[in-house]
Amino acid sequence: MSGKCLIELKDVHKGYQLGKTTTPALRGVNFSLAQGDFTAVVGASGSGKSTLLNMVGCIDVPDSGEVLLEGRSVLNLSDNEKSELRNLKIGFIFQTFNLIPVLNVFDNVELPLTIQAQVDKHTRTQRVREALEKVGLSDFQKHLPDQLSGGQRQRVAIARALVTQPALVLADEPTANLDSVTAHKIIDLMLDINARTGVTFLFSTHDEKLMGRVRTVVRLQDGLIVESDAVLNRAS
Ligand code: ADP
Ligand code: MG
Repeated sequence: MSGKCLIELKDVHKGYQLGKTTTPALRGVNFSLAQGDFTAVVGASGSGKSTLLNMVGCIDVPDSGEVLLEGRSVLNLSDNEKSELRNLKIGFIFQTFNLIPVLNVFDNVELPLTIQAQVDKHTRTQRVREALEKVGLSDFQKHLPDQLSGGQRQRVAIARALVTQPALVLADEPTANLDSVTAHKIIDLMLDINARTGVTFLFSTHDEKLMGRVRTVVRLQDGLIVESDAVLNRAS
């Protein structure tokens, strides 16, 4: 069911220096994602979820260990090469949606494409329309973010993450600012997009109630993976 290996973390350690003390955030994490996976990282606040997602998203680098994207180490890349890689390969979704308040829905979704010089205006328009259709917001192109509900804003953010046709979508606590009904709908939408398009999703949550919907769960505790369970894969 799963495709080839997309990303691999090998014995990743990461600590944050605060004055003279170092807080260990990841303490030797081994983790991999294959193309088409839909994986949840769960754990209490402070367990290292954001740090793990930042490693996968090439936003931060480990103190030691390896990060391989499609088999290539990303640690020796320059900052420019890393941003290019991020823009081409990875879509990001955030807890607080991070939409630009003065841009309408269409322009927010178009934004990551505008820095891809090879994509012309016509193709951009087409891709934005497709992305908005995927999240059910075709009729909201001209709305500003503050004219939308929280769930709708997060759907705009999902469209923005998909518009570059990334291999991987990373979502750090995408449902933490949503009520539980809306949170379930957002997870179901991501699952549906994963099933229809095969794009890989990795999202984090501290909400145990969301886990029933997810195929693969990775549990973090104090910077270590304590459980990695392919729930549905095992059953099928
Ligand atoms: P989670 O996302 O699961 O809440 P984080 O990855 O944000 O966990 O944090 C893991 C640990 O690293 C926590 O102890 C946190 O306080 C610490 N930490 C995270 N980011 C920083 C930072 N920029 N500076 C100092 N400590 C940090
Ligand atoms: Mg976090």
